[in-house]
Amino acid sequence: MPSYKYSVYNSAKRNNSRGNNRTGGGKRRGDYIDPSRFIAVAKPRADVQYTAINNFSDFFVEPILHANLTAKGYQTPSPIQDKTIPMALEGKDIIGIADTGTGKTAAFAVPVIDALIKNPHSKALIVAPTRELAQQIEEECRSLGKGAGFSGAVLIGGASMGPQLRDLRANPRIVIGTPGRIKDHMERGTLKLQQFNIIVLDEVDRMLDMGFVADVTEILDSMAKERQSFFFSATMDRRVETLIQTFAKDPETISIKSGDASENVHQDVVFYGGKTEKMDKLHDILLDEKVSKVIVFDETQRSVERLGNDLLALGFKVDAIHGGKSQGQRQRALEGFKKNKVNILVATDVAARGIDVADITHVINFSQPQSYQDYVHRIGRAGRAGKIGHALTFVNK
Ligand code: AMP
Repeated sequence: MPSYKYSVYNSAKRNNSRGNNRTGGGKRRGDYIDPSRFIAVAKPRADVQYTAINNFSDFFVEPILHANLTAKGYQTPSPIQDKTIPMALEGKDIIGIADTGTGKTAAFAVPVIDALIKNPHSKALIVAPTRELAQQIEEECRSLGKGAGFSGAVLIGGASMGPQLRDLRANPRIVIGTPGRIKDHMERGTLKLQQFNIIVLDEVDRMLDMGFVADVTEILDSMAKERQSFFFSATMDRRVETLIQTFAKDPETISIKSGDASENVHQDVVFYGGKTEKMDKLHDILLDEKVSKVIVFDETQRSVERLGNDLLALGFKVDAIHGGKSQGQRQRALEGFKKNKVNILVATDVAARGIDVADITHVINFSQPQSYQDYVHRIGRAGRAGKIGHALTFVNK
C-alpha cells in the first residue's frame, strides 16, 4: 500500500488552566489576551505514517493529469487528497477542513481539471481570500493542467485590468481570483458566471474574517444552478457552516484536522519597557543565528513599512509586505523571502495570509495580534512540515 509520510497533530485536547486548547478567542478587534497564553513548550507532533488507500494511478482521471502529477513528483496522495479526490470525481459537493500545507490545493485542482477536460462545457471558478493564495493556486492549476488546452484567468486586486480583460475575452475555462476583483468584473459585465458550474471557495473562514461574506454570497448566487461546489476552510464555525449550508448540496465533509495547530511551536514572550528597549530586543533576537528565517508581524501598513526600513538601516536582509504595496512589490518580497534573498519579512496579518513558505523558523509578534485566533494563524507559519517552530510575542512590562 502506498504511504505518505505525514504528520498529524496529537488529537488529545490539552487541558491546562490557561485554556490553550481554545483557538477561538473572540472576534472583536483588539481583544485582551493574557500574556500567559503566548507561552507554551512545543510538543513534537507524532510523526504518523499515513497509509493512503489510493495511489494516484488508481484515480480514474485523464491520462494528461496522471502525467502532470508524475512530472510534479507527486507519488502518493496526501490524506486530504486521498479522501477528497474519489468523492469529488463522483461529482459530490465537498467540505474540506484542512490547513495550507496539507496538499489541499491539488485535492480540489485534480478533480476540477479532470472535469474541465471531460466536459468541454464546464467552467470553474476558484475564489481565495488573498492575492498570494490565488497565485499559489494558479501555479498549481497551471502545472496540473499543462497540455490540457484550456485557458485561464487570474482576477486579483492591485493588478492592472488590461491583462485580465484580455484573458477574459479568450473565454477562460478556469478563473481564479479574490472576491473583490471578481465582483468588479461581474459588475463591468466582463465576467458572466451563469455558465460556471464548478466553484471552489478556499479558506472560507479567512474570507469571512476579511468581510467578504456579501461578495461571496453574490458570486455564488450568480453561478449555474446545477453545479459542483468545494468549500475549504481551516476552521469550522457558525458563519462558515451557515454559508456552506446555504449553498452546498448534500455535501461530504472531509476533515484532516485534529488537535491544536500550534502544538509544535515553542511559544514565549519578550518583555520590554519602552520603544528603544523594544527595538533593541528585536535587534538582539534577529542577530541570533538560530533565527534564520523569520516573519515579524506588526499592526499597520505604516508601522510595517517603518519597521522594515529601520531593520534595513541596521543592516538586516529584510523586506516588507502589506496591503498598501503594489501586487508586483508584494510578489517580489515574497519571492525574495522564499529564495532566501532576504531572511526577514515584516508583514501585516492580512498580507501574510495564505503564505506557504516551508522553512520559517520563527514568528515574531512585534505587536500583539488582535485576537487569539489571529495569534494561532500567525504562529502556524512556523513549524511547518513536522519541524519545531518558534514564536516570540512582545509584551509591554
Ligand atoms: P498545499 O497545502 O496545497 O498548499 O500544498 C502544500 C505543498 O505540498 C505544496 O508545495 C505542494 O506542491 C505539495 N504537495 C501537494 N500534494 C503533494 C503530494 N501528493 N506529494 C508531494 N507533495 C505534494
